Amino acid sequence: MLGGGASAIYIRGGGEEAAIGALTGSGAGAADGGSELGAEFVGSEPGAEFGGSGAGAADGGSGSVAADGGSGRITSVNGGAGYVVLDAGHGGSDPGTCEMGIYEKEIALDITLIAAKLLEEAGVEYILTRGEDVYVPIERRIEIANNDTTAFIVSVHCDWYKHKSINGTSTLYNSGDEDSKELAKLMQSYLTFNLGTVDREIHPHKDIVLLREAQVPAVIIELAFISNKHDLSLLKTDKFKEQAAQNLVEGICAALA
Ligand SMILES: [Zn+2]
Repeated sequence: MLGGGASAIYIRGGGEEAAIGALTGSGAGAADGGSELGAEFVGSEPGAEFGGSGAGAADGGSGSVAADGGSGRITSVNGGAGYVVLDAGHGGSDPGTCEMGIYEKEIALDITLIAAKLLEEAGVEYILTRGEDVYVPIERRIEIANNDTTAFIVSVHCDWYKHKSINGTSTLYNSGDEDSKELAKLMQSYLTFNLGTVDREIHPHKDIVLLREAQVPAVIIELAFISNKHDLSLLKTDKFKEQAAQNLVEGICAALA
């Protein structure tokens, strides 16, 4: 596709120490080791707490813009060239949410791996916090993000809520962080294209550790509700995963432009 001169650092389990060491970052952030994604571990995904009923038509109309990573050099929203950190939520002993035998950790990884391939083709430098089904502590994810060479971090999740009628796609950011809010707006504007989900828009949050402790712009993407029949039927398909990955990458490339 587009000329990819840049080589990606691809983190897989045991290889990550060396990879991160080479980036000579600013060191670990102030991860407090507390609960992970806030409400997620007590029964609902953070996204589900916001945005009301989730009603509203999926727009599907927002434009899809071609990835423009052709220059090979990235000017990031964090000032200067940088890596995009792509974070597949959960993994290993932490399955995330689950419904009808479909695990959030698997969907997040599938889509992240497709997106990584597309980023590579677009010549965008990226780092994965995990490239396989392994447990990565939240402190480690934050440490990877908090690096001078990071442009921003995008964390990929699926939503869940006790009210099964709630559905749709949303993007979360830390309240009060304007850079992250801008990134969230931009990512959300690309996410629902051809996806078949409702646009639940962006939501501020102040208790999600990853968003709070990231020292670079950070967003959590909630692709669809695993607890909703319609969304789950989409999440299971390759078509959805490929389109979601494509939308993610186009949003990322737009943010880097
Ligand atoms: Zn999650």
